[in-house]
Amino acid sequence: MSVDLTINSYFNEIKKKKISGTQCKECGRIHLPPRVICDHCKSQNLDIIELAGEGTLQAYSVVYVPNSKMVAAGFGRENPNCVGIVKMSEGPMVSAEIYGFDLSEPEKIKIGTSVKAKFIERGESVILAFEV
Ligand SMILES: [Zn+2]
Repeated sequence: MSVDLTINSYFNEIKKKKISGTQCKECGRIHLPPRVICDHCKSQNLDIIELAGEGTLQAYSVVYVPNSKMVAAGFGRENPNCVGIVKMSEGPMVSAEIYGFDLSEPEKIKIGTSVKAKFIERGESVILAFEV
């Protein structure tokens, strides 16, 4: 049976502070964002699951020249932001904004640091980010 979870319903769940992914009933792989076809075994036999919102930092970058949306949110050369890759405790990896580090000393940010989900309201959107 295929799942009834679109990217729009995924973002609607984020607005409710829920992280919805999919889990393959054939091979067990978990996907975030959710998928309708397993990227490992190509099965369409998937379940919708809720992820706990915990993970570890796998990679990061401190951004001093952000895109226009981040400039509008108050970030820039004098107020950099951090983006990174988080490996969720359930397995999938996701890119997101990362908060809670002292960005004046980015060399002290440690790969493997535990992070948890943080939901940021920005305009009419809610964004999945992570914090230390
Ligand atoms: Zn699979």
